[in-house]
Amino acid sequence: MKIDVLSLFPEMFTGVFGSSILKKAAEKNVVEYNVVNFRDYADNKHQTVDDYPYGGGAGMVLKPQPIFDAVDHLTKSNEHTKPRVILLCPQGKVLTQKVSEELAQEQHLIFICGHYEGYDERIREHVVTDEISIGDYVLTGGELGAMVVIDSVVRLLPGVLGNEDSPILDSFSSGLLEHPQYTRPANFRGMTVPDVLTSGNHKNIDEWREKESILRTLQRRPDLLENYPLTDKHKQWINDWKKEHKENK
Ligand code: SAM
Repeated sequence: MKIDVLSLFPEMFTGVFGSSILKKAAEKNVVEYNVVNFRDYADNKHQTVDDYPYGGGAGMVLKPQPIFDAVDHLTKSNEHTKPRVILLCPQGKVLTQKVSEELAQEQHLIFICGHYEGYDERIREHVVTDEISIGDYVLTGGELGAMVVIDSVVRLLPGVLGNEDSPILDSFSSGLLEHPQYTRPANFRGMTVPDVLTSGNHKNIDEWREKESILRTLQRRPDLLENYPLTDKHKQWINDWKKEHKENK
């Protein structure tokens, strides 16, 4: 996958692309990052990228020309791919695991990181294919948002994580939150690990994990269960938990 990022603060990406899984993915040639300062594309003498909003009002607006030219250039230099051009923006579709999984199927992603008050609307209308928000709050710029999206996409690319199965078991991938995890020692300061996990009985362990996953989702994110295909067994676990919970209140 080719990932281009348009940003006025390219240095912000050095630590993130140069560490951990994102770094390893590039070393394995699964992904190639290219961070571009779109100020370099400004065609005016002072390389200005923003201007006052028509009609007045607070803040500065990103001009169309540098971003149009940068995207044109990056698209033309990768002619065999049709990139998804993603605008980071609090008004966009909120990022979910499903969105990340869909983006992980692409060959070329271009991220546009905004700053200041916003973008000239023509960028949104004529250059961008997707608008993504990372949540209902406002950041100073799109860089942190782009990093969040890129991290969640790159870890899904085949060959990036050591264990090919691990992203499948992560919270949200299955539609549920992940079950609790424990590691050694089995007894830490009197706090013990559930017996089933040290039993060696994998059928029982799988069943315990499935149940914990269902009950954890019920308690923390019941909205996720609305679209989850619950089996009779799951419904029984939920009813038992609710009954027990009510009795203990
Ligand atoms: N005035 C804009 C509005 O109300 O929609 C907010 C501009 S914000 C200060 C500057 C930039 O930060 C945005 O253009 C966008 O790139 C980025 N940004 C802010 N919040 C974001 C969010 N929740 N998700 C993704 N990007 C965000």
